[in-house]
Amino acid sequence: MPEVTHQAPAIEGWFATGDAANETGNPHLIGSKCPQCGTYVFPPVPSGGQNNCPNPACASDTLESVALSTRGTLWSYTENRYAPPPPYPSPDPFEPFAVAAVELAREGLIVLGKVVDGTLAADLKVGIEMELTTMPLFVDDDGVERIVYGWRRAGDDAVGAPPACGGRSDEKERRR
Ligand SMILES: [Zn+2]
Repeated sequence: MPEVTHQAPAIEGWFATGDAANETGNPHLIGSKCPQCGTYVFPPVPSGGQNNCPNPACASDTLESVALSTRGTLWSYTENRYAPPPPYPSPDPFEPFAVAAVELAREGLIVLGKVVDGTLAADLKVGIEMELTTMPLFVDDDGVERIVYGWRRAGDDAVGAPPACGGRSDEKERRR
């Protein structure tokens, strides 16, 4: 395996990280929003098409590129316990992983993504708050570690980070 020199998105234009992300440095998804009717789309729709807006009652051609909410509510999830058949790549030995469908309330979107390693179905529950993160997908032939967006439980910090204090994830608890 080649030595990792730097990171780059596995998919161009679907999410922003680091300097390209907001001032907090947290990654965010990039979606499209219709300026006429306010409908959001993810994955983003390239501009330039005709009648791009997915709202059937709207004939807008233009969609704006927008940052989507970085947190949402777990709408559904599953756990993949079996390695996919060839030709799909998968690590050997195969490690089970969870997949989450997260609802972004403001956008009215449900975004499917892999859940971080170490968080399986038993750790998840419909309705809990999830937070966008990124994870390595594979290292390409040039030594570039390709990263992809994914989900983690809100408040679960990356390894080595200090524990979160007082974030938005606590508000719901206090209201009960
Ligand atoms: Zn529209």
